[in-house]
Amino acid sequence: MSTSETAAPRSIAEIASYHAHVYYDPASSRGAAEHLRTLIGERFRLRLGNWHDLKVGPHDQAMFQVSFAKELFATLVPWLMLNHGGLSILVHPNTTNPRRDHLIDPLWIGTPVVLHGEKLPEHDDAEDALEPNTMPHLPA
Ligand code: ZN
Repeated sequence: MSTSETAAPRSIAEIASYHAHVYYDPASSRGAAEHLRTLIGERFRLRLGNWHDLKVGPHDQAMFQVSFAKELFATLVPWLMLNHGGLSILVHPNTTNPRRDHLIDPLWIGTPVVLHGEKLPEHDDAEDALEPNTMPHLPA
């Protein structure tokens, strides 16, 4: 057996938090993204990031980021599966390997889009969930 087959499985303790990146087209689907962003903020306590109408980092399309705590995964991710409204969403763990988090270990909701993971480092501090900036008042 190769070393990779005998290596110990990774622990979920590696995961410090998650991101969801919501992609949109500024010309045709920004309205849908704005609507989804509002719905998320009304229902989940998390950090809604800036609008990036221009490409940023490894992302090849306009997007905004959602930073959320591990405890939200089991409600937010299924909710996004049912409510993404045709938008593409990348959900990835935040460990100490951002390149692997984005390219090897993420999940997609909707249609996957191109990602330039080679721009990301293979080692960094694992990012904790950012300070929430929403005030949810509706059930998911
Ligand atoms: Zn991210």
